[in-house]
Amino acid sequence: MNPRFAAMPTTVFERMSARARAAGAINLGQGFPDANGPPDVVAAAARALTDRSNQYPPMAGLPELRQAIADHYHRHQGLALDAEREIIVTSGATEALAASLFALLSPGDEVVLFQPLYDAYLPLVAQAGGVPKLVRLAPPDFRITAAALDAAFSPRTRLVVLNTPLNPAATLATPGELALLADRIVAVDALAISDEVWEHVLFDGRSHATLMAAPGMRERTVKIGSGGKIFSLTGWKVGWMCAAPPLATALARAHQFLTFTTPPNLQAAVAYGLGKDDAYFQAMRADFAAARDRLSAGLAAGGWAVLPSAATYFLSVDLRASGISLPDTMFCDRLVDEHGVAAIPVSAFYAEDPVTHLVRFCFAKAPATLDAAIERMATAHRDLAG
Ligand code: PMP
Repeated sequence: MNPRFAAMPTTVFERMSARARAAGAINLGQGFPDANGPPDVVAAAARALTDRSNQYPPMAGLPELRQAIADHYHRHQGLALDAEREIIVTSGATEALAASLFALLSPGDEVVLFQPLYDAYLPLVAQAGGVPKLVRLAPPDFRITAAALDAAFSPRTRLVVLNTPLNPAATLATPGELALLADRIVAVDALAISDEVWEHVLFDGRSHATLMAAPGMRERTVKIGSGGKIFSLTGWKVGWMCAAPPLATALARAHQFLTFTTPPNLQAAVAYGLGKDDAYFQAMRADFAAARDRLSAGLAAGGWAVLPSAATYFLSVDLRASGISLPDTMFCDRLVDEHGVAAIPVSAFYAEDPVTHLVRFCFAKAPATLDAAIERMATAHRDLAG
């Protein structure tokens, strides 16, 4: 076996979900909604399955989906993308990450990444032969500073991997932070992969700032999106990469030998969904915001110190500020086994110098599920707070 993968544990999300199933716990660990997604988008997929071709679609994606992505980003983010030359459909954002890292990195290239980091990043960078340079973002604000960037960047920096909105911190990079980052990227003539899968799951009237629109970044950015996240259909695995033509050509080379294509009926349905009106996106955000508020208020009433959540399906609890001295991993083990609630220790998102006093909860669940979890969490607080 390749020692890199042989030595790797199963992801924390899979492990916690398995433990939740074994313990019959409420699973607020892995980030997926318990609703079945917008019925009209699901119906569009079902219709395409029976009425249209189920053979290999074009390698870069169905033309109607590529056009829908271009139109969608023009309408929502003011970007002008050429559907034919600048958009490639992938099997989820995960494949887009793999394709772009494999296409753009050569062995020995330095890659700047931000902790907390999504679990796929480092294994993929390693497999591509990249040398990670980590910037540590710290709670409660997780802000990017000039000093931290200066410590991580070097003349050998080839690539930066950014995630905004940021999972698990539930924060957004501000236009000022993006400009700061863009400045450093341009200065060393590097490229960026911007993982923006959470771009639509924003609350309280916030709007998404894409790295691609930062000064000098239009030609240097691979913008990654996910239909699974936009439509709360996480199992669909329809993602995409947007990049200027010279980059897109390289990305397509890697993509063709990873998955080559993505199920055509799901592509057609996502194309339909991206054209939905603003009311859909507003209602989706309002529903998730209501769930966030329900869980946040319920946990606070049970004695838990809850961090704000500006985006994503997640909020974090601060164990220290809640009177708990256990480290996050030990706390999560006891919480699932003794109190029947599964959550994710935030230390799992750090490769070095981890934050160990935060625990991530997914609030994209039905009100009754959240209420049951809130009740168990109140008991857990009485039991575990010292
Ligand atoms: N990046 C981030 C930051 C994510 O949170 C996720 C999903 N949790 C992904 C990528 C993967 O997206 P997909 O399911 O489309 O592969």
